Amino acid sequence: MTDIFTPEKRSEVMSRIRGRDTKPEIALRSLLHRMGYRFTVNGPKNRGLPGKPDVVLPLLRTVVFVHGCFWHGHEGCKHFRLPKSRHDWWVAKISGNKARDQRNESALREMGWHVVTIWACALGTHAARTWLEARLPNLLGPPGASPALPMVAEDATPYRTGNP
Ligand SMILES: [Zn+2]
Repeated sequence: MTDIFTPEKRSEVMSRIRGRDTKPEIALRSLLHRMGYRFTVNGPKNRGLPGKPDVVLPLLRTVVFVHGCFWHGHEGCKHFRLPKSRHDWWVAKISGNKARDQRNESALREMGWHVVTIWACALGTHAARTWLEARLPNLLGPPGASPALPMVAEDATPYRTGNP
């Protein structure tokens, strides 16, 4: 059987189907990399911790979730508009996702992790990324921080980011 794709194209298509690497996640990684952060995206911690964090910064004892504005219900965001048809079903679906996010965040905090949630819209445009870049050291701690020092203030309330 002849494949309609070249091998390169096929592997690109398959990795997009198989992987959970979305455009905002990739944008965050390149931002973190450029800023000098050390992190993992597919290590044992990414796979083993509650909610499978998208980015783990072991030295900073911090995990980052990149949340899609629609599926995770970014209140007030233009990317979060519930469809008119089957409205109740969507309300239940999205609030279920949000409840699960909250459970994962609480479990991680109890394990001593600092949890940062970044909405996808904060990574969607160049202007938003510039805005986010200026705030990342406050959210995560400085890139070159020594793990021996307390670098982030642990807070009971979640740090959330989105467009200003
Ligand atoms: Zn949003």
